[in-house]
Amino acid sequence: KIEVKNVNFGYGETEILKDINLQVREGEFIVLMGPSGSGKSTFLRLLTNLEKPTSGEILIDHLKLTKEIPDLAVVFQDYSLFPWLTAEENIVLALKKKWKGKKSKKELFELAEQYLALVQLGHAAKKYPGEMSGGMRQRAAIARALSMGADLLVMDEPFGALDPITRIQLQELVLQINQTQKKTVIFVTHDAEEAIMLADRIVMFSPGPPGKILECIDVPFEKPRKRDELFESTEF
Ligand code: ATP
Ligand code: MG
Repeated sequence: KIEVKNVNFGYGETEILKDINLQVREGEFIVLMGPSGSGKSTFLRLLTNLEKPTSGEILIDHLKLTKEIPDLAVVFQDYSLFPWLTAEENIVLALKKKWKGKKSKKELFELAEQYLALVQLGHAAKKYPGEMSGGMRQRAAIARALSMGADLLVMDEPFGALDPITRIQLQELVLQINQTQKKTVIFVTHDAEEAIMLADRIVMFSPGPPGKILECIDVPFEKPRKRDELFESTEF
């Protein structure tokens, strides 16, 4: 459970986020939307402990977010993988950090294989990021995030650069992970269709700075959602 209470944030004099309040249930799929500059990425930086609120607090499972909070799983549009490591090695590196010497090299590689299989990338274990397509890189980044063992997956416009078909496949993958692995997901997109396919709740930011939460919209359709039915429906 994530509780964001009266959070303000700014760089120097400039207010970037103002009076942010949000509660996220375990396993919930939250999509953040809002104009460029409204502070969505900044909000994710606060959630992942890369920045500290100027005032207010963020609690994760009732613990105040401090430097001691374990690694959260983050997937950005690009920079998630080390280019000098293969898909498999990228994941082994994350696993190594998580298991801190409690598993042998062989066990780590076996585990990495399982995570790659989970994102249907078993065949590309030995490929370097530079040899993979954008969709494959995102799959590898998701596998790496999952391998860290975090219950929260934070994704900042992860599929923005992908072709429409690959994008749909990856949306299905994230939904499946959200539902079968019970991961909470916080996901930023500019694409309303993507938001409606994925979200339990859409959080709209107002134009910033400073950005505020304008409204939260529950998306009532059951999952998995069928694209055709969703966009033929007259309710939207
Ligand atoms: P986009 O949709 O374009 O990704 P966003 O909602 O993610 O936009 P942020 O990247 O969070 O917006 O930026 C919010 C505001 O904070 C912007 O006005 C931006 O200029 C400012 N900002 C971001 N990083 C810094 C920084 N390091 N120093 C000063 N201002 C910053
Ligand atoms: Mg952003």
